Amino acid sequence: MRKFKTESKKLLDLMANSIYTNREIFLRELISNASDALDKLYIQSLTDKGIERSAFEIEVAYDEKARTVTVTDNGIGMDDDSLEKNLGTIAHSGSQEFEAEAEAGKDEIDIIGQFGVGFYSSFMVADKVTVTSRPYGSEQAWRWESDGVEGYTIKEAERNERGTEVVLHLRENTDDEDYDTFCTQYTLEKLIKRYSNYVRYPIMMEVSKQVEKPRPEDAGDDYKPEYETHTERQQINSMIPIWTRKQSEVSDEEYNEFYKSNFHDFRDPLRTISLHAEGTLEYDALLYIPTEPPMDMYSRDFEKGLALYSSNVMIMEECPDLLPDHFGFVRGVVDTKDLNLNISRETLQKDRQVQAIERHLEKRITSELEKMLADERDTYDEFFQKFGQSFKYGIYSSYGALTDSLADLLLFYSAAEEHDVTLKEYCEAAAADQKSIFFATGETIEMVAKTPSVQAVREKGYDVLLSTDGTDELCFMSMNKYDDKDFRNVAQGDLGIESESDKEAAKKANEENADLFSTVGDKLPDEVKEVIASPRLTGSDDAASCVTAAGQVSIAMAKYFASMPNNEGAPKFEYVLELNTHHKLFADLQDAVKAKDDEKVSQYATILLDQALIAEGIGVEDPTAFNEAINALIA
Ligand code: ADP
Repeated sequence: MRKFKTESKKLLDLMANSIYTNREIFLRELISNASDALDKLYIQSLTDKGIERSAFEIEVAYDEKARTVTVTDNGIGMDDDSLEKNLGTIAHSGSQEFEAEAEAGKDEIDIIGQFGVGFYSSFMVADKVTVTSRPYGSEQAWRWESDGVEGYTIKEAERNERGTEVVLHLRENTDDEDYDTFCTQYTLEKLIKRYSNYVRYPIMMEVSKQVEKPRPEDAGDDYKPEYETHTERQQINSMIPIWTRKQSEVSDEEYNEFYKSNFHDFRDPLRTISLHAEGTLEYDALLYIPTEPPMDMYSRDFEKGLALYSSNVMIMEECPDLLPDHFGFVRGVVDTKDLNLNISRETLQKDRQVQAIERHLEKRITSELEKMLADERDTYDEFFQKFGQSFKYGIYSSYGALTDSLADLLLFYSAAEEHDVTLKEYCEAAAADQKSIFFATGETIEMVAKTPSVQAVREKGYDVLLSTDGTDELCFMSMNKYDDKDFRNVAQGDLGIESESDKEAAKKANEENADLFSTVGDKLPDEVKEVIASPRLTGSDDAASCVTAAGQVSIAMAKYFASMPNNEGAPKFEYVLELNTHHKLFADLQDAVKAKDDEKVSQYATILLDQALIAEGIGVEDPTAFNEAINALIA
C-alpha cells in the first residue's frame, strides 16, 4: 500500500469525520471531473480524427443491494502515473488555499465548506472508493483503490473501454446520516438536475417507471389497470444552458418557462435580459425582472442572489454578491468560465471578477429600466409602484452615494401634472430661475394637496411633489441636490420664493405686532416656538394661519421618527405658527388684544393653531378645547 501525503491525509480525515452537512456535492464533483476528462479528449479530437465525439458521455449508476454509486466517463482516462499523481495528493486547484487555511488553524468544517475539495469529497459518503481507468490510446487499465484513511493501492486491471469508472461503496447508515438515499434513483436524479443540469455532455442513467400494461381486448367495466416496471436508459441533464444561447434563437416562451420552473414564480417575468460579455470579462447572464415582488421582499429575511455557474456547473444557488441591494428583486443566472468550482463565500465577495460582473449587471439593469421608463411609461409606473421602494431605500441607506445611479429611476406625484413624474420631468417643467424642488408629505395625496403651505407655493406658480411615504423625505434629504436644485419641504421655514415686497411687508408686520405675537405665543403650548407674520399667506383669501417646522426637522420627519421604536433620541419637534395678517381673523384678534379680552385672545390663538394643524393633517391635541373655542366665538 502506498501512503497518502500528509496534506491529503489531513483532508481525508476531515472528510470522514466532519459533520459537514452538504455531503451531496460529491456527485457534482465527480461529474465535473468526468466532464473535464471529456473536455481533454475533445481537445485531442481536434487533431486526432479517430475519436468519435458523438459518443462522449457520462453515466451514473447505482446498486441498492451492493450499496454502490458509480460514475463513469469515456474521457481521457488515467494511467498508473496519473492515478498516483492526481489521486494520491490534493490536486484540485483550491489546494493551496486549503493548505494555507488549514495551517492558520481555521475551523475545519468551514474549510471543507469552502473548498469542497474535488475527488476526495467521495469519502464524505463512501468508506471505499475504487477508480478503474484506461487512458486514451492504451490497452492497459489501472485500478486505484482506497478506504480514504492511510493509503491506497494501484494495480493493473482490465477495462474494455477507454475512460474512468469511479465506484463509491457507501458508508453504513448512522443515527444521523442516511447514506442509502444516495443509491436511489430519486436522489441521484435530483442531484444531477440540481448541480449538473447544464454539463455539456449527456449524463445517462437507467431510470425505471411504472407503465400501464396494454388493456386486454376483452376487459370488462370492472377491469383494473395493471402496471409493470419499465426500465430505460435516459439522459438526465438538459445540457444546453439557455443562458449561453443567443437571444434571437430562444423564444419568449422558452425564457418564460425557464424562469417559472427555476425561480418559484407562476407569473411570466416582466422583462428578460440576456447578456453575453466577451473580452477581458467573459460571462453569460440571463436576468429576469419579475412582475410582482417576492412576498418577503421588504422583510429582513429576504435574500437576494443570482445562481452562479462556472462552465455550466452550479457553484452557488443564490450568490448575493452579483447584485446591488437595490436590484435585489432581479432573478437569474450568471455563468463565468474562470471561477474555481470550490471558491468560498468569502473569497467570492472579494473576487475582482465577481465585482466587475456586478457593476456590469447593475448598469445593464439600469439601462433596461430607463428604456422601460422612456418607451413604456404605463408599465414602468406600475413597476415602480411595486418595486420603487427599494430604489429610495438604496438612496437613503447609502446616505446619497447612489443618487447618481438611482435618482432618474424615481417617480413622485406632481401636484401640477396630477400624476407621477420623474425628477427630470419636474425640473424641465420648472422656470429657469427655480432654485429648489418643492415637496410636501402627508397622509393622502388629496390631503397634502390642500394644505395651506402647498397651496401657497402652488399659487406662486411652482409645482410641488406630493408624497404619502414617510421615507420620501429621507430620500430627498439624502440626495441633497438634483440638477443643481436643492429639495425643500414646503412646510418648512423660508422657501426662498417669497417676493421682496412680501418679505418686507412681513418684516414690518412683525415689528408692528411684536407685542401681539408674544401675547398670543404665551397662550399656546410649548411646541409653538414662535408666532410670526406669514410671508407666504398674504392674500385675504388665503388660509388664516399655517404651521411650519422651526428647525431642521420637518413635521413629517418628526412624526416618522416619533413612530419608530426606541424613539427617545428622536429630535424634538417645534412649530412656527405663521399668521396671515391680511385675513379677517387677524383683524378680530387684533381687536381682542387691544380690548385686553384675555379669554378671547386665548380662543383665537387656539383656533388659529388648531386650524393650521388640521390643515397639515397633523390633527389637534385637544379637539374639545378647539370646539369650545369655536362655539364661544360664533355664539
Ligand atoms: P480538481 O478536479 O479540482 O483538479 P480533483 O481532486 O477532483 O481536483 O481531481 C484531481 C485530478 O484527478 C484532476 O485534476 C484530474 O486530472 C484527475 N481526475 C479526476 N477524475 C478524473 C476522471 N474522471 N478522468 C480523468 N482524470 C480525472
